[in-house]
Order: sequence, then C-alpha cells, then structure tokens
Amino acid sequence: SKPIVAIVGRPNVGKSTLFNRLTGGLVAIVEDTPGVTRDRLYRDAEWLGKSFTVVDTGGIDFASESNSILGQVRKQAQLAIEEADVILFVVDGRTGITSDDENVAEMLRRTNKPVILVVNKVEQFKGNETVYEFYQLGLGDPVPISAAHGMNIGDLLDEVVGHF
Ligand code: GDP
Ligand code: MG
Repeated sequence: SKPIVAIVGRPNVGKSTLFNRLTGGLVAIVEDTPGVTRDRLYRDAEWLGKSFTVVDTGGIDFASESNSILGQVRKQAQLAIEEADVILFVVDGRTGITSDDENVAEMLRRTNKPVILVVNKVEQFKGNETVYEFYQLGLGDPVPISAAHGMNIGDLLDEVVGHF
C-alpha cells in the first residue's frame, strides 16, 4: 500500500489548509476556530510520479481520551509515530515556538521515522528571523511554507517523497 504522510501540530497552525494544498482537495474543513475539524481525514496525493496518502491528524477527535489541547496533540503525534512513514510537524511562523510545540517536538525527536519541521504562515521568508528560532526544536532544518498561498510547497513535497 501507499506510504502514509501524517500532518501533526497544535490547533490553528494550518494543518487542514496544508492537507487541502497537498491533496488539491475539497475534503478537509478549514475553520477559523481551533479544533473544529472532527473527521479523520485521509486523502491520496501524488508528486513526481510517487503516490502517497496524507492524513490530517488534527481532524481526529481525541477529546474523550484527553481533554487538554496538549493531550490531544500528543495523541495525534503518537498515532503518526505508529502509522506514518513521514511525519509533517507543522508550527506557526507567526507566533513562534510555544510550550506545546516543545512538548510534541520532544516526542517526535524520539522516533526513528522521518520528521519534517514545517513552519507555516511564512509569506515572506527573507529576513524572517522567526523561522530560524525553530532550529531550537531539534528537528533539523525548518521548511518555511505558506499553505494558504501555496508558497514553497514544491520544495516540501520534494523532501517528503525523498523519504520513500
Ligand atoms: P488547523 O487547526 O491546524 O487545521 O489550521 P487551519 O488549516 O484550520 O488554519 C487555521 C487558520 O490559519 C485559518 O484562519 C487559516 O486561514 C490560517 N492559515 C492557514 N495557513 C496559513 C498560511 O499559510 N498563512 C496565513 N497567513 N494563514 C494561514
Ligand atoms: Mg484542522
């Protein structure tokens, strides 16, 4: 079966927007209110002739198991660690690193699976020092993108399929 690419990150960083961008689709529901997407979302995508399945783990409702936002994002990360072939850890280039980001990064540093650190909402990379701050998460080179504006998505996809 196809490799699975899981999108992980705290609410409102742009996971659903990225999911839509990667899958070219209309499936994921994007809302301004954090945590509103409730369905488990899988959709197929293709890049450079390689097919894969993308999952938006933010659409999975873990609320009954863990009430805090951090608890839910940790559940997403755990699922991704178990079932994904490549993990996209999405953070918000506008807000910078949060303690939840640090907590989840600590989990992701322990997996042997490839983790790509995606800094979203970077519409202007030049001189954007917030992007460099994300090196502190210890997950390698941050990949700046704008999911909403489709910027640098090709470079991100090159890196994703490079891990298959
Ligand atoms: P999720 O909760 O992580 O799934 O985040 P969403 O995809 O629902 O996006 C949350 C908010 O961030 C929405 O208002 C989006 O329009 C906005 N957003 C998503 N991607 C970008 C981006 O690349 N740039 C900017 N400026 N806003 C974005
Ligand atoms: Mg979402």
